[in-house]
Amino acid sequence: MQVKIRKEIIKTELLIIGGGIAGLQAAITAGQEGTSVIVAEKADTRRSGSGANGNDHYMCYIPECHGDDFKRVISEINEGMEGGPWQDQIMLRKMMKRSYGIIQKWESYGIDMRPTGKWVFEGHAMPGRQRYHLKYDGQNQKAVLTQKALENGAQIMNKVFINEVLVNEEGRAVGAIGFSLAEDDSEVIIFQAKAVLLATAQAMRMYPHGNPTFIFNTHSCPAAAGGAAIGYRAGARLVNLDVPYIHAGVKGFARSGKATWIGVLSDIHGKPVGPFLTKPNRETGDAMMDIWPGIFGERLDNGTGPTYMNCTELSEEDLKYQEKAFESEGIDSITEYCEQRGIDLRKSMIEFGTYDYSLAQRGIDINLDGMTTVQGLYAAGICCGNVRGNITNASVWGDVVGEHSSEYVKQVEEFDISEHPLIKEKIDFYMELMTKKIGAHWLEVNSTLQRIMNDYVGLKVRSETLLTAGIKYLADLKRYSVSELKCENSHELMRTLEVLDLIDLAEAVALTAKNRQETRGNHKRVDFTYTNPLLNDKFQTIEKTKDGIKMAFRDKEK
Ligand SMILES: Cc1cc2nc3c(=O)[nH]c(=O)nc-3n(C[C@H](O)[C@H](O)[C@H](O)COP(=O)(O)OP(=O)(O)OC[C@H]3O[C@@H](n4cnc5c(N)ncnc54)[C@H](O)[C@@H]3O)c2cc1C
Repeated sequence: MQVKIRKEIIKTELLIIGGGIAGLQAAITAGQEGTSVIVAEKADTRRSGSGANGNDHYMCYIPECHGDDFKRVISEINEGMEGGPWQDQIMLRKMMKRSYGIIQKWESYGIDMRPTGKWVFEGHAMPGRQRYHLKYDGQNQKAVLTQKALENGAQIMNKVFINEVLVNEEGRAVGAIGFSLAEDDSEVIIFQAKAVLLATAQAMRMYPHGNPTFIFNTHSCPAAAGGAAIGYRAGARLVNLDVPYIHAGVKGFARSGKATWIGVLSDIHGKPVGPFLTKPNRETGDAMMDIWPGIFGERLDNGTGPTYMNCTELSEEDLKYQEKAFESEGIDSITEYCEQRGIDLRKSMIEFGTYDYSLAQRGIDINLDGMTTVQGLYAAGICCGNVRGNITNASVWGDVVGEHSSEYVKQVEEFDISEHPLIKEKIDFYMELMTKKIGAHWLEVNSTLQRIMNDYVGLKVRSETLLTAGIKYLADLKRYSVSELKCENSHELMRTLEVLDLIDLAEAVALTAKNRQETRGNHKRVDFTYTNPLLNDKFQTIEKTKDGIKMAFRDKEK
């Protein structure tokens, strides 16, 4: 197989890497500001990323529904799934203040934000509390956002994988290297840009999932495979990698979207396992899963499990409502599966499980403008580590970046990247991978990575000795991979580079886990079993500098 090189350098003001929710929203807003925009997406923006098939809960603050007491809003959100300590509060406040504006925009684009004609808030809620998750129908969201980005002048380049961001000697992001996946031979494409946005989502496939044979049966988009590593290599600071966030949902049938279920979490005898619900409830759902997503794994480990989603007491109307919500959320394959197997949710409970650690909302550290610590390099969405909020995060910070980068590109000069040394280095590497006669397949490396992460940087037990061994094995794996991997075509070249991205991030996870000498949340150190109060107000960061890898604890932004 060959590696072709596109002769002309493609120039734009804003290059967006990843056409998911954040990338497309940034493209729309920047396009409206008159900025020239290219979206490079490895799949097809009409149906890519975690929001590919739809979503149905949008966390937001609508003053006419929630009242003027914004402090109360923030304090209640902090107690729910999207709250908590792993975000800068200043970012949360900005996101929530802008959330209604995005909802109005989405409604004007043609996304159904009030399927019943009213603002309805459901799910991810506790009894007796105000609810903040707007129930919407996001089935068409990717197609609509794509259309809107095109209408506003963005150029969308589908089937283009980006591998590196180019940074000049002043430390400014000035372009990127990628290649086209449209044909078996890959075609390298060089981009020159005044600003670059990373909107590449999380790092699926770093930890093992339910069934090792089906490595792509992940709860979120398996193609979101560690794009934050591109920022890390470019010098951007990462944050909060060491304290895992975990998700939950149907066991063995990996699909996110837990709040779309309105049944009661129950034990094998149908007895509720949490204090919040005894009967199915559309308005709140069972908050137990948000508060304790590890419940399923922990109850298996201690022998009290399994734990089930119990929809047996749903009314006929509620069941239909839930099935419709699965469609809005893009998880109606569950309904089809049940039909094919003759499973009646009103007769059988369905087992839920704790999903793997995917680095969602653990990653790039951004400021209030969405800029990383590298000038001109922005990040938005769930590849960022100091904001939470999922679809709200992606759409609001995409919007912020669209706006701010449009100001920024007016202030900086274009930088000629044609002689950038990384270009030749990368092309030589792609050639080597594509022309090797014998070598290892990326799948071998990916599954080895998952084993190392599970055994040495896992979620059950962490310790100095395990982490030290894990760091060594990851370094070995990287060395062997770089020298031994081979690819048959452009698709495999992408998968190979994704695995190398995952290894880079895995190393950062292991190093920061070793450096955090305490137990906190899902970071459980058997050699430091206590939580150190001096670290309560701090996040751990990691970055690549000229002097090597630097880790530090920074203050949380209040
Ligand atoms: C089934 C399901 C239901 C969900 N329901 C909800 C919900 O109701 N409410 C909610 O708030 N959240 C929900 N979520 C989460 C929500 O979908 C995500 O938080 C959101 O889509 C993240 O947006 P993003 O732009 O950061 O990433 P994504 O939308 O995942 O987009 C990332 C894009 O980057 C592309 N990409 C990655 N790397 C590269 C690269 N190197 N080069 C080129 N392209 C690249 C990917 O192909 C992808 O298109 C759900 C998720 C799932 C899976």
